[in-house]
Amino acid sequence: MNDILLLKQGEIVLKGLNRRIFEDKLVSNVRRRMAHLGNFRIYAAQSTVYVEPLDDTADMDAAFEAAKQIFGFVAVVRAAACEKDPEAIFETARTYLAEDFARAGSFKVESKRSDKSYPLTSIQVSQEVGGLLADAFPDVPVDVHRPDLTVNVEIRENAAYVHSVPTLGAGGMPVGSCGSAVSLLSGGIDSPVSTWMTAKRGVHIIPIHFFSFPYTSELAKQKVIDLAKILAPWCGRMTLEIVPFTHIQEEIRDKCPEEYFTVIMRRFMTRIAERIARMNNCGAIVTGESLGQVASQTMQAMAVTQEPVTIPVLRPLVCMDKREIIEIARRIGTFETSILPYEDCCTVFTPRHPRTKPRLEEVLEAESALDVTGLVEEAVRNAEMVPISK
Ligand code: ATP
Ligand code: MG
Repeated sequence: MNDILLLKQGEIVLKGLNRRIFEDKLVSNVRRRMAHLGNFRIYAAQSTVYVEPLDDTADMDAAFEAAKQIFGFVAVVRAAACEKDPEAIFETARTYLAEDFARAGSFKVESKRSDKSYPLTSIQVSQEVGGLLADAFPDVPVDVHRPDLTVNVEIRENAAYVHSVPTLGAGGMPVGSCGSAVSLLSGGIDSPVSTWMTAKRGVHIIPIHFFSFPYTSELAKQKVIDLAKILAPWCGRMTLEIVPFTHIQEEIRDKCPEEYFTVIMRRFMTRIAERIARMNNCGAIVTGESLGQVASQTMQAMAVTQEPVTIPVLRPLVCMDKREIIEIARRIGTFETSILPYEDCCTVFTPRHPRTKPRLEEVLEAESALDVTGLVEEAVRNAEMVPISK
């Protein structure tokens, strides 16, 4: 059987003159993702990326699964290719969809024709193929209104394609087509989701994790590496930067008023993230903050947290409820790892009464006890880089 994947392009079909750039990125992302799954021919035509197996090494099941995690497609279709005449289309549908017919109580044929030079109209194709299938499966009547099974026929330039239900694609834009950003990745529920959402909009991600050994354990670090690995099929290859944070936290604990621990710590995270962003040509910092979720996520605290930098701070979850965030975390497969009970650096030295509405002047005053530049430089210099690939 001439098995093939048809990956239907999403939003990028709306792009104007620079559409080619997006499409090339999409094709190269698909090629990279399929590279270890065997030999395929991968090309774009008519708002679709085609993935054709070239020989027996091509693992079509794995390719189909992988395709569902590539941003830029609205639908992922596994189809059988055949000659463009109704007889051949019928034969293909009869064998390729035999199992679907065995289960179905009724069916219809739905045809689309992007090859406008084709001599039959879509309706004629549906009628002819439908008639032949009705004869071949006399127990499965035609129902054009509410069929159990829809036999989709697409007449395209090179061939006709037959398939049943299309699967929903991952949506979004091709990763790498909208620049790069650093994303603050803790071991919690939220930041894997904010990272995923940003990658979905076509952004290449450099995850950053702040690590407070020995206050947080090797297990906590491994958890973040595991989360990054779960995200890699969506986000593509990444380099996770693990930034040592212990010295900074100890300095804050020793020299600053307790009520400001958290906000000062978060200002360090922002500064370090900006430094890493600039070094890597990134246009933004992404965080998993959500308005009002905790004391450090009030508008005032967010303002003070981002005050040291000029780079945009993106907060994809800012107006989402925890329930909505968890729903996505479950869907993308990060939830179960996120809830493993390892501590995060934010829970080390947590003040008993954090200021929910910190005043910038007071924070600056408290911070003046610290060698901010020296601490930031030390942390950036000692960051450990962990390559993450699928
Ligand atoms: P999460 O579930 O993502 O940990 P949270 O609700 O626990 O978020 P906070 O602990 O206040 O919220 O952290 C807010 C954001 O700051 C996180 O979403 C993440 O982007 C960033 N952050 C917190 N801790 C770390 C860390 N150790 N390393 C990197 N980023 C962090
Ligand atoms: Mg957290």
